[in-house]
Amino acid sequence: MSERNRAAVGFQAGLEDDAQWLNDLRRRRNPGPRSVHHRAVDPSLDSATVAVHGGTYEDPVTGAVGTPVFQTSTFLLDDLSYSAFERGATRDVPIYTRYGNPSQWSVQEKIAALEGAESAVVTSSGMSAIASTIYALTNSGSHIITAYDVYGGMYNLMREDMPSAGREVTFVDATDLAAIEAAIRPETQLLFFESLTNPLLKAPQLRAIAKIAKRHNALLVVDNTFLSPVNLRPLDLGADIVVHSATKYLNGHSDVTAGVVTGSRKFVDRIWAQALRFGGTMEPLACYLLERGLKTLALRMRTHNENADALARFLDGHAKVVAVHHPSLDHYPYCHLRDDVRGGFGGMVSFEVAGGDAAALKFCDALEIPYVATSLGGVESLVSLPFNTSHCSLTIAQRTSIGIRPGLVRFSAGVESADDLIADIDRALEAI
Ligand SMILES: *Cc1c(COP(=O)(O)O)cnc(C)c1O
Repeated sequence: MSERNRAAVGFQAGLEDDAQWLNDLRRRRNPGPRSVHHRAVDPSLDSATVAVHGGTYEDPVTGAVGTPVFQTSTFLLDDLSYSAFERGATRDVPIYTRYGNPSQWSVQEKIAALEGAESAVVTSSGMSAIASTIYALTNSGSHIITAYDVYGGMYNLMREDMPSAGREVTFVDATDLAAIEAAIRPETQLLFFESLTNPLLKAPQLRAIAKIAKRHNALLVVDNTFLSPVNLRPLDLGADIVVHSATKYLNGHSDVTAGVVTGSRKFVDRIWAQALRFGGTMEPLACYLLERGLKTLALRMRTHNENADALARFLDGHAKVVAVHHPSLDHYPYCHLRDDVRGGFGGMVSFEVAGGDAAALKFCDALEIPYVATSLGGVESLVSLPFNTSHCSLTIAQRTSIGIRPGLVRFSAGVESADDLIADIDRALEAI
């Protein structure tokens, strides 16, 4: 075994010499986990460069230019593994895939670099990332603040699971700073908001919310799924943790379910430990697909951004369209977003067609290019109606009270030609 000693081929125990146990929050930590073969790129490079090169495992044996798929559930035990066990550093050495795997490390390094974070952990879904984060960073007896219109899975986790887990939750309007401040209690530990909300694309003032969180010694977690790090980096605005449904833009091809958490190594270590207790591990093969998808993230986001801008311009003022919600439009009310973004506003557009939900159904039926499906962020345009999907459990009055009026269409602009999409939408609107 000594011939194959992994320390000799570039795996390290990941702990500084004076380091103590993993759960000692005072100890210094290395970024990562990563081996010397995982490409560490300068995170100040443009996201197009980071997306291609960050984290790639440069295989010393074959010189392969892509990360091999480490399709294994376990790894040979050696001195390195025993020392990792002994020192509480099992996150830094390949021992067992639920704990860590070089395929996971590659994609984690890439996403951490894209978000400007020290560390990341990939999970089996976006909800796995969210649940692990919430449980790891709050205690029984604590209080959480989130938005009343937060993603449905997160909302259900807050409503169904937090009471028995001893966490109290207050739901607020994410764009109302005074309401957020007023909701703070001495036991508030965590604030959770989305960088852009579904389906109305409201943008919370993350810089100001981060200041409120700091002032009250609470953590700010941001779900950045709708914008991606190409467009906005919440950590730069003061957030502590960023989560994603990597199922959406990060993977980008509607063929993988995955999640990721990024932030300081100190917090991500705790979330990693929670995720491994929950069993929300990401499979090596799925890591390969996600890494492959991520290489074109910047390229794809540019086209998503441009297509959504073009659709919003076309729809705004169209005779069959009553309202359009998109950050690029002059009447968009949350103008601070223009200062917060690095790229554009992502590929989501929502709009109300004249004639209510029946007309919206006709519109969907008449479309030829987009698929009528939930989810978002894929290369193919996807369209769905909140009234019979995400918000079907609400009454019309309840939906209207939160701004989801009859006829609302949620459109995830893919990377097809904008002209083709617009021509298709124009025709479908005429069919109403
Ligand atoms: C889809 C989504 C999630 C959940 O992600 P899964 O990968 O489906 O578990 C969480 N947040 C947002 C904003 C989403 O769009």
